Amino acid sequence: MNFVIAIDGPAGTGKSSVSRRLARALGARYLDTGAMYRMVTLAVLRAGVDPADADAVTAIAAHLPISVGYDPDENRCYLAGEDVSVEIRGDEVTRAVSTVSSIPAVRDRMVSLQRALAAGQGRIVVEGRDIGTVVVPDAPVKVFLTASAETRAQRRNEQNVAAGLVDNYEGVLADVRRRDRLDSTRAVSPLRAADDAVIIDTSEMTEDEVVARVLKLVRQRSGAAR
Ligand code: C5P
Repeated sequence: MNFVIAIDGPAGTGKSSVSRRLARALGARYLDTGAMYRMVTLAVLRAGVDPADADAVTAIAAHLPISVGYDPDENRCYLAGEDVSVEIRGDEVTRAVSTVSSIPAVRDRMVSLQRALAAGQGRIVVEGRDIGTVVVPDAPVKVFLTASAETRAQRRNEQNVAAGLVDNYEGVLADVRRRDRLDSTRAVSPLRAADDAVIIDTSEMTEDEVVARVLKLVRQRSGAAR
């Protein structure tokens, strides 16, 4: 049986680490849908195309050979066979990804790829922005993680400093707010919690607590599915 655990929410809520830890704890597959939008964005930038040029971006996205791994420990992404796992996390891609992901035809292509990837036997943790609302609306477990913009910016800035990047809390906070605005106001699949999602505010929680909370939910819903 296919059993999807949908984890949605904005950047900086701990979504990626929580999703990967859940997949490990459950022996489940893991799918990072943000990485797919990042790969399209990288291809757009490499082609020298304006990310806001919907027709040109759509043409690139239409046949792009995207491939992502299911392993939560590896999380590898390949563009036409080239490992771009590190490059898609860079600043240039991060700045342009919200513009690219707001183009309806890009979303259509990604959503159908994601549905195909999420299908199949067994449990899979799918992380994104619209998994519970659009990609897999009948997922038995839907979680929406939130946290204040300040908490999210602080976490992201700490990660940057630990990775050797400049300490720039104000800059990170501005970027968090800009991406929130773009992601939640776009016409197609805006970022919002599904009506039946369990909303978890992680501002005052440790990662361990968030993981434990979702694991409990998975146990409850697995029982109900039997
Ligand atoms: O999760 P991550 O920060 O890597 O996602 C990058 C961007 O991809 C988001 O800011 C959002 O614009 C887009 N995205 C999306 N729908 C998803 C996953 C990501 O629009 N399911």
